[in-house]
Amino acid sequence: MLVTTSPLLARLGIRHGFSTRRGGVSTERYATLNVGAKWGDDPAHVAHNRKRLAAAGGFSLERLFTARQVHGARVALVVDGVLPERVATVEADALVSVVPESVVGVYTADCVPIVFADGEGRVAAAHAGWRGTVQGVAPATVEALVSVGARRESIRAALGPSICAHCFEVGEEVAAEFERLAPSAVLRPAGQKPHVDLWEANRRLLLDAGLALGNIDASPPCTMCEAERFFSFRRDGAKIGQHLSFVVAR
Ligand SMILES: [Zn+2]
Repeated sequence: MLVTTSPLLARLGIRHGFSTRRGGVSTERYATLNVGAKWGDDPAHVAHNRKRLAAAGGFSLERLFTARQVHGARVALVVDGVLPERVATVEADALVSVVPESVVGVYTADCVPIVFADGEGRVAAAHAGWRGTVQGVAPATVEALVSVGARRESIRAALGPSICAHCFEVGEEVAAEFERLAPSAVLRPAGQKPHVDLWEANRRLLLDAGLALGNIDASPPCTMCEAERFFSFRRDGAKIGQHLSFVVAR
């Protein structure tokens, strides 16, 4: 399977997906479906993989909007007439779109991708690693959706494949940030360093931002646990493949 989906968004008929590492042409550390250009894979392989992913996901690469991700909380708004190439140079970690048939996406390899849809044509994608989570990229994306007319009670959010709490051991400074933000997201197994649950932290932030409990899918697979299916920065280091999470506005 090239992509996994969220049952929550699939039920609504939202075209979206989270790419896996399966079904592509890249080799070695990028094997096989690497769709990211930043870590040195053969550009021809990446281009071929992106075409395969778009075909499997039912979207057009010409309509795909991504940003230069910087582990922050800035949200970019896709407006009609803006070329994808221009948006790609904008520094942002979330994109919101209301332009029909446009696609917004984020790249990850352990960080939490979150795709949003209100079922009325408004969509968003956010990249929430631990820094972005602490800075509030998830609630910032909700506010941006509301600013373009979405009703909080209609917004659905689905977390994509990313690192689980069991795999995400952190230092005390990072744990302290999360103690302040969402105490339920910090685990302290006996005799170990603290662990942070990024899924729980983002779930709490989305609830606080006004999303309904049943409108949040916070049970994705773990990228680090599942080496066959996913790339993982924590497991394998840099110069690996990246996943793309995407959602299509209609
Ligand atoms: Zn794991």
